[in-house]
Amino acid sequence: AAKRGRLGTAVYEPVLDEYSTAQLTVISDLRHALDHGELVLHYQPKATVRSGAVCGVEVLTRWQHPQRGLLGPDQFIPAAEDSGLIEPLTQYVLDRALAQCHAWHTSGWDVPVSVNVGAQCLHNRTFPDQVEAVLARYGRPVETLTLEITESAIIADPQCATEVLGRLRDLGVRLSIDDFGTGYSSIAYLRTMPVHEMKIDRSFTTNMLTDASSNAITRSLLGLAHNLELEVVAEGVEDHETWRVLAALGCDIVQGYCLSKPLPAEEFVAWLDRHES
Ligand code: C2E
Ligand code: CA
Ligand code: CA
Ligand code: CA
Repeated sequence: AAKRGRLGTAVYEPVLDEYSTAQLTVISDLRHALDHGELVLHYQPKATVRSGAVCGVEVLTRWQHPQRGLLGPDQFIPAAEDSGLIEPLTQYVLDRALAQCHAWHTSGWDVPVSVNVGAQCLHNRTFPDQVEAVLARYGRPVETLTLEITESAIIADPQCATEVLGRLRDLGVRLSIDDFGTGYSSIAYLRTMPVHEMKIDRSFTTNMLTDASSNAITRSLLGLAHNLELEVVAEGVEDHETWRVLAALGCDIVQGYCLSKPLPAEEFVAWLDRHES
């Protein structure tokens, strides 16, 4: 299709058009997926650095696509963000995660869950009510739930995001700032945002043994977070040596392949059984 260029000339944009067609297919398929339960939740354990005890799981969503197989979030979360489907998707994931949490509780496992929250949810003033409703639906204590948010979600509309986060904090939900330092972040927001936890992105932790600047950034983020009295989760911890170094630096919680990759619910329970015995 032709678009009006800046000076009024027609500019042909074939690449954009191809992209849009692919996106549109993903969006209509995703709508169908949400209605037909094709999204599946995987669970990745997190452990206390010192004891190695499991202290929760992060919920990571996959799409069991009828034609394309199991798709990772990178193949559909961006389209969901662009199309407004991220809000129903987040609702769906929250509901399924707390249902799972309730089921585990019934079988004697109390596992706190962390759910990734789409950016637009922080710009919807009814989001805290939706979170409250889902917690009530499954009768889990509020502190069982951590919501992982990204800096970019805050920066789009800091005033609204601050209000929404404040109400979530008042509810008693734990808030975590995800991928800190990878976006257009502003350290100043850490001062005003009512968060409890910082997650250090795996782009820093995975390379910290071999790359001096990743190492320096990890140390600095740990210092910054601890000075602000935030708990620190290092993600992407792949080996025991990195775990040991993070322990020496005073990091609180680790998550990564070193412990386990994200697992479907049944496999996670089997893993937990082995790990805890
Ligand atoms: P994230 O929140 O930063 O999640 C961590 C990602 O790192 C996950 O990728 C996880 O599988 C991967 N990972 C964990 N440990 C290791 C490790 O030791 N080494 C390496 N190389 N990778 C590790 P995944 O599952 O592909 O998710 C990608 C991103 O998609 C997530 O990044 C998150 O931003 C987003 N996402 C996933 N599920 C949801 C969801 O339900 N809602 C929203 N809004 N976003 C989601
Ligand atoms: Ca996350
Ligand atoms: Ca992360
Ligand atoms: Ca990340």
